Amino acid sequence: MSDEVKYENPFHTARFKPPRKGKKPPKLLAVVHQSGCTGCEVCIAGCPVDSIELVPGPDPKNPSYQQTVEIDLARCIGCQNCSQDCPWETITMYQHDDAFVAWGNETLASRLYMSEEEITKIKEEAAG
Ligand code: SF4
Ligand code: SF4
Repeated sequence: MSDEVKYENPFHTARFKPPRKGKKPPKLLAVVHQSGCTGCEVCIAGCPVDSIELVPGPDPKNPSYQQTVEIDLARCIGCQNCSQDCPWETITMYQHDDAFVAWGNETLASRLYMSEEEITKIKEEAAG
């Protein structure tokens, strides 16, 4: 992903899920290397806090084609289930701070974190 600053997408349904409990941030966070993700969804079932989100593929008429996933770093508790479950070994656990750098490097497409421009576009579409 580019150096462009990304913001939490306030319109994503993940934002309605319960926030992560606990005051201390987790030691580890999981990051998906999207270039190797097949979108098989195996990781999603094993996440205890439901923090793995689908990213639709490029064709809006067939969103499951070339879909991938991303992990909501604001909600991940670092349990490592997903990195152990992924059949393609495309999820890596990083130290908390390193995860944000890795996210920037490994994320090809995001629905959770977006540029200001993309969020403005969604707002305009929502307003009709
Ligand atoms: S490490 Fe655990 S909490 Fe974080 S995304 Fe993977 S399964 Fe979910
Ligand atoms: S299990 Fe691995 S390949 Fe399958 S959707 Fe999750 S990250 Fe992608």
